[in-house]
Amino acid sequence: MYRGRPERYRGRFAPSPTGPLHFGSLVAAAGSYLEARAAGGEWLVRIEDIDTPRIVRGAADEILRTLEAFGMHWNGTIIYQSARSDAYHAALEQLRAQGASYGCACTRREIADSGIHGLGSDGGPVYPGTCRDGLPPGRAARATRVRTNIAPSRITFDDGIQGIITQDVEHQVGDFVIGRADSLTAYQLAVVVDDAAQGITDVVRGADLLDSTPRQILLQRLLGTPTPHYAHLPVALNEQGEKLSKQTLASAIHAETPVPMLVNVLAFLGQQPPPQLLHASLAQVWEWADAHWQRRKIPAVRAMRCAN
Ligand code: GLU
Repeated sequence: MYRGRPERYRGRFAPSPTGPLHFGSLVAAAGSYLEARAAGGEWLVRIEDIDTPRIVRGAADEILRTLEAFGMHWNGTIIYQSARSDAYHAALEQLRAQGASYGCACTRREIADSGIHGLGSDGGPVYPGTCRDGLPPGRAARATRVRTNIAPSRITFDDGIQGIITQDVEHQVGDFVIGRADSLTAYQLAVVVDDAAQGITDVVRGADLLDSTPRQILLQRLLGTPTPHYAHLPVALNEQGEKLSKQTLASAIHAETPVPMLVNVLAFLGQQPPPQLLHASLAQVWEWADAHWQRRKIPAVRAMRCAN
């Protein structure tokens, strides 16, 4: 596993191939791309196809074609999480050997019935710690959880857009899952292992992941890997105030006519592109964006309505 911090800025875009890109995912792609370019750094792409049941066949290729059509060129080779299980198992084994994890037999229902409201996966309940001191008699482990109480669990970081964020992982999330009942590695662990393996210095992504970041920093501390700088972009909402996604029927991207959408993305990110840019070429839009990009202009909010 990569342990040093490279001198040079290295950012990434890490889409889950659960469908085509939409305006919201393009915001994360373009925001991370422009930050990397402004720093004279590299921009990597990682396909997060670990959540196998939700993966849509062909979506990864379509995402990559869309990035190309928008003129976003990545450095190096693309990592696919589906090919990384050895690395995730090594990290799971390291945490187990450190006594930092344990097997858990609880079902979702049992945890929900504990009724402790928290920031667990998808705003789920705080894990009540039922299996922390051993499995109840006659029960088998369904998942692996990390012990959030063996390192200081109050995590504070200075987000490059959202400012100082503090979360007490033990009390607001609880011991969270790092190895899943269906034997897949949980997102939280995979992303930490991969950011370290790829030497990522700066993570720029949607603020829907802001509440996950303290969990990831806690895992970095337990695994002894560097903590990147984080900057969380506002998440795009539709007119009804829902996050854009396949479920809310976000309109797919027209890769043949990237300019209007790219200009909208720049406007959404607070960069105030001049209206005449709508009639410019793609290369001219990027030229304008490179020359005018200012991170401090990005609205410091977690979510915002967009025009798309
Ligand atoms: N794969 C995640 C998503 O598409 C993003 C993960 C990340 O940027 O850390 O929502």
